[in-house]
Amino acid sequence: MAATEQRSIGLTLSKRIITGLVGQEGLVGGLHAYPDDEFYEDALVEMPREHLMAVMCEQIVAVAKDNEGATLQGIGIAVPGIVRAGVVDDSPNLPQIKGARVVAEVGALLREHGIDAPVSIVNDADAVAAGLAHQQGKLDSMIRVWTIGTGIGFGRYPLMDNVGEGGHTVVTLDDRETYCGCGGRGHIEGIMGHRAMRLRFLDMEPEDVFEQADKGDQRCIEFKKLWHKALAAGTATSIHMSGAGKFYLTGYNVRFVEMPLLNHYVQQMVRMSPLQAFSVEIRPENPETVVIGAAVTARTAVPSTAAI
Ligand SMILES: [Zn+2]
Repeated sequence: MAATEQRSIGLTLSKRIITGLVGQEGLVGGLHAYPDDEFYEDALVEMPREHLMAVMCEQIVAVAKDNEGATLQGIGIAVPGIVRAGVVDDSPNLPQIKGARVVAEVGALLREHGIDAPVSIVNDADAVAAGLAHQQGKLDSMIRVWTIGTGIGFGRYPLMDNVGEGGHTVVTLDDRETYCGCGGRGHIEGIMGHRAMRLRFLDMEPEDVFEQADKGDQRCIEFKKLWHKALAAGTATSIHMSGAGKFYLTGYNVRFVEMPLLNHYVQQMVRMSPLQAFSVEIRPENPETVVIGAAVTARTAVPSTAAI
């Protein structure tokens, strides 16, 4: 019965704001997106922080209208960056939200609209991991996810109370590797991130680099190897730190991944037999997954940070 079903709202903030209502069985109704036009990619990067908070609130209010009579258990907001205790500590790809007290600010705006369900915040890659775990009914086993897009995210479920910026794992000691959005040297994102690739190849788009590699261009072939080695190195580091297991790859640049090449490099980097039972699988990017993940984490979040 709808009247007793527990529901929560998930929102993801990346190139667009995408919001949905989530029940026990998954998404209830459709996803709401802002801006509507998915090709208007820079709208959020240019938007001042207060405006961004107001738009998030509007989107949540619109989705909440779909919730007829069921209890709204919580609202989960997924953002790219380091999040802690309801605050965005850093977000290199959406710099205006650095320091934003998202839980407090969005929570206050929502209360003005009569919505006082607890608000929580989660790293977007962790939300993808939670969404995949929920969609596969594997909420009890550990899964890890690389999100390969503008930046590189690393998420895991169950959530850990740590920083979780695995996309900034150092994978090279080469002093020339300075393309990461955070300014750090030798990071995975500085090799694999879309923005970093454009900085490296000022004369070519990332799509052209991979295409030229397949046509035999030596510079592009070397980069394609480096790109896969960076992902392999990050995966191998995670395996050495947390054990073997399941890894998923998602994000709009999973189109560049060649699994045999990646597996070949990971196998070269992980030689201890108890750690070799790993598997890597590609999941096409799907906003529904991260919205569900944000909503799932909202249900299980400790609401104590919401009321401040
Ligand atoms: Zn970095």
